[in-house]
Amino acid sequence: MNLTLNNGVEMPALGFGVFQTPPDETRAAVTAALEAGYRHIDTAAAYGNERQVGEAVANSGINGIFLETKIWISDYGYEQTLHGFDKSARKLGVDRIDLLILHQALPSEFDKTLAAYRALEKLYADGKVRAIGVSNFMVEHLTALLDAATVVPAVNQIEVHPYFQQREVQAFGAEHGILTQAWAPIGGITFYRDSGHRSTLQDPVIGEIATAHGKSPAQVMLRWHLQQGRSAIPKSVRPQRIAENLDVFDFELTGDQLAAIDALDTGKRGGPEPADITLANFGMPIPEN
Ligand code: NDP
Repeated sequence: MNLTLNNGVEMPALGFGVFQTPPDETRAAVTAALEAGYRHIDTAAAYGNERQVGEAVANSGINGIFLETKIWISDYGYEQTLHGFDKSARKLGVDRIDLLILHQALPSEFDKTLAAYRALEKLYADGKVRAIGVSNFMVEHLTALLDAATVVPAVNQIEVHPYFQQREVQAFGAEHGILTQAWAPIGGITFYRDSGHRSTLQDPVIGEIATAHGKSPAQVMLRWHLQQGRSAIPKSVRPQRIAENLDVFDFELTGDQLAAIDALDTGKRGGPEPADITLANFGMPIPEN
């Protein structure tokens, strides 16, 4: 199933995520994903595994795999971001990237964020990327970006799972033609997890819906994203789960079931607070190779 971005580019709705997949496991994970049928991979300069993603894609011999990656904040600024593209393209082994996004807003240095976005616009104008976008942008960041931008971002990749849904950010995006792409789509955030954290995978409401369809909780959550028009990029390193997470096209959640999942929102973020991202605390450099 494809989604059409705001510039007409088609993107497979379900992509395969590789955050926290160690470089030495990435080739096998991406190979398993391609064998299972994924045709969209989401990586990032900051994940340290773009090279292994590129190798798995090249070794597969499959054409037309949609590659998405992200510029890290230490590469923000016009020239730096152009160079960030060169680094990612080199590691991925491609001349052109399908979707290149800014990984975070830098709220305290928003000028730098805007300069980075101008570089994405330049790469887009030059045909080096097929679409551009952002990640972890809240409504105030999107508003400031739209004031300055000439190209409306195609996607905003944000944390969305049943326990944290960010409906106001999604609605703002929808109003402006920005597709919401859900990270941690099955709630699998493995950082900033407090001891009282409940897993969406163990949620009784989701469990009951899963049983009713003969599907797993992960499959129910992915179906919820797709039926609500979002892209989602689940991650796993296990071939059986990788395949399971793509096997979501043979059932349909009812309106009541979608509403029951909507009602699970806790308003509690699992990932870092976007307002707190600074170069001082998150600005690790991205290696050349
Ligand atoms: P996910 O919601 O995809 O969950 C992944 C976790 O769930 C892993 O621990 C995985 O373990 C486990 N899992 C996967 N499938 C199943 C299943 N079917 N049943 C039970 N457990 C399962 O969370 P992520 O945080 O990995 O997010 C997905 C992707 O989103 C990332 O890989 C990355 O591409 C992107 N992302 C982007 C961010 C951003 O700031 N833009 C931030 C975080 C993520 P195992 O691997 O052992 O199977």
